[in-house]
Amino acid sequence: MSDRFSTVEIVRAAAKAARCVAAIISVLAIICAIPAASAAQTCKPTRARPVITLKSMGPCAFDLDTLSFAGEPTQQAMCLLRGFDKSRNLAPMLTNLPPVLAERLGRSSAVPARETLSALLSKLDLEREFAANLWQPVSRARDNDPTAPLARYFVIHDTSGPNFGGRAFPADIDVNPKLNNLQPFWCADGWATSHVVINRIGGMLVTHDFQIPWRETKFERAARFAGALKGLFLHVELIQPRRRAPGHGRRNDAQAPTPGFTPAQYDRLALLYVIASVRAGAWLIPAFHAPIDGDIRGGHDDPQSFELDDFARSLEKLIARLQTEQPAVSYVP
Ligand SMILES: [Zn+2]
Repeated sequence: MSDRFSTVEIVRAAAKAARCVAAIISVLAIICAIPAASAAQTCKPTRARPVITLKSMGPCAFDLDTLSFAGEPTQQAMCLLRGFDKSRNLAPMLTNLPPVLAERLGRSSAVPARETLSALLSKLDLEREFAANLWQPVSRARDNDPTAPLARYFVIHDTSGPNFGGRAFPADIDVNPKLNNLQPFWCADGWATSHVVINRIGGMLVTHDFQIPWRETKFERAARFAGALKGLFLHVELIQPRRRAPGHGRRNDAQAPTPGFTPAQYDRLALLYVIASVRAGAWLIPAFHAPIDGDIRGGHDDPQSFELDDFARSLEKLIARLQTEQPAVSYVP
């Protein structure tokens, strides 16, 4: 290179290169202001997903005419809030619910006022993510058909990963920045798996607002429903690492940590449940992913080690706080 350039030319070339680098850095700075993964990460399946053919309407007997599972809202929840037992079978139906749920499910009474919830969101520094859409309804079934019912089910998932295989869980899973990084769940093409993801520190990533009709379970995608269930369910993922459980083959991810989730995750889940219920105008029916896909081959086992009483305590605490919260004062220009 030096053979073909004079010193002046080299200096000029170096100055030009420096200007180019500065320009590139300024462009990168703008790109970096966007969530890092959004520049490239796409999540839309590259191949058509297998057609889901149902053998039954599921362990909780879904009715396509009423767009609901069998029974009153509390009975539905007692069927839908059960995980897998040690033999990997669906646990028996619950015989009761924590009072904070039993007293509310399906009812519109005592749903907190939007103004009060907005004030609390502001104090929690969550105004930007959640308060702006508080006056928007949640999604409707049949892909937001205006004549279809609003979302009724609040489905709780765990990410079932990362999978540590045969290794023990690290001691820092509740604070480890890599394990709790939410950016990998962001999809630039709008094909993220769920509506919201909650990490073990209590950080949240909204990947679809609750007014976006979305499907995450195989059951919702079943050919028999022809899209009717799209929008009837809201989906929240909780980060939970897994490892291999003995006796289930080499490549399984069946073992969850104990406890399965952190207090911060239960608190955030309760907050999202209240936000969704306020926007739906009635207390949603909480559900686990596992029983919804319970009769489908290749169904999921999540969430694992979910303590319903811990969730109920977080919900009670939040409702009590909302009862003492002063409503947000409307801004008058
Ligand atoms: Zn799931």
